[in-house]
Amino acid sequence: MSTSNIDMTTDRLTFARALYDAVPLYDPKRAPVDLDLTDNTNLWGLPPHAERALREIPVARITRYPSLYAAELKEALASFVGAKPEYLVTGCGSDDILDSAMRAFGDPGSVVASSEPSFAMIPIFAQMNGLTYVGVPERPDHQPDLDALLAAKPRILYLCTPNNPTGALLTQETLERAVREAPGVVFIDEAYAEFSGVSAVELAMRVDNLLVIRTMSKAFGLAGLRVGYGIGAPALVRDVEKSRGPYKVNAMAEQVALTALREDMAWVQAHVALAVENRERLAAALRDRGYAPLTSHANYVCVPVAQAVEVGQALRARGVAARPFAGLPHVGDTLRISVGPWEMLERFLVAFDDATADVYGGVTS
Ligand code: PMP
Repeated sequence: MSTSNIDMTTDRLTFARALYDAVPLYDPKRAPVDLDLTDNTNLWGLPPHAERALREIPVARITRYPSLYAAELKEALASFVGAKPEYLVTGCGSDDILDSAMRAFGDPGSVVASSEPSFAMIPIFAQMNGLTYVGVPERPDHQPDLDALLAAKPRILYLCTPNNPTGALLTQETLERAVREAPGVVFIDEAYAEFSGVSAVELAMRVDNLLVIRTMSKAFGLAGLRVGYGIGAPALVRDVEKSRGPYKVNAMAEQVALTALREDMAWVQAHVALAVENRERLAAALRDRGYAPLTSHANYVCVPVAQAVEVGQALRARGVAARPFAGLPHVGDTLRISVGPWEMLERFLVAFDDATADVYGGVTS
């Protein structure tokens, strides 16, 4: 017992690098619920040809290693986004691209600056890689405060558009100025770009310091397979690839992702259109109830709701999960609700009416 390297009071493995003392093990502790509207995945399910490909994976593809750097997948992704394959890097989810890119471009202590609120993993990836995270509150119009971000002299400037969790689309001027004036590399996270129809890929083909980060976890419905990618100048993406290492996209994921890109585009586009339609319908239903949802360009709606954490708990008690955020700059507490088939959103609205009545002390039904 006494020779154990586990600190029993903290469960900490004491052999770890000192910086891991401050790194929490990411675990949002979300208990399973009937209707989970927290992760902005494709709630309609898997595209049909992708599902067929998944069922028909030859065993031989699993017993051998996948391709080193997913060359075939890069080609299909390149033609999807309108870039050349040498501008692409793939990874095990876009998380892997973000993490590898931070490792590639940041020296210990380098500054990673991000507008806030934004993707919750950014400060964690910065910490995991020994970098210094600087968060800068966004402006009241939900655009980043670029002056303050640039004043932090970041080696890595992270921007997300449409932004998670607000749904705001960053203006083209903001993105171009960021790329022009940043002293280091700019990451533009476009996890939800399919829903906005706007992309900085074309900008990434013209400059040498921009990495656009995309994923097949959202519009393509493949979150469980973990396929992400980055687009940037060939020298930039090769550095990410070095830090990423070989074989990160598994053989099954590569095959299914390729099939989705080649055969499921009509399905993906149709469901993006449905998500946009239902997003507007959900926002209207919330406005009818006296709320003021933020304008969203993604597949979720972020709505200011007093005591959002309590409302989130009351929703969970009714088998429905939406993601609460406490005290966001300018808007206060909010709930972020993923958009899916209308029946799911109807069920959410019923639970929401009940939950808010409960929390605000009204009549419960
Ligand atoms: N970026 C943003 C803005 C996200 O919301 C997410 C997932 N929630 C990711 C990146 C990571 O997605 P994945 O690793 O599944 O590609």
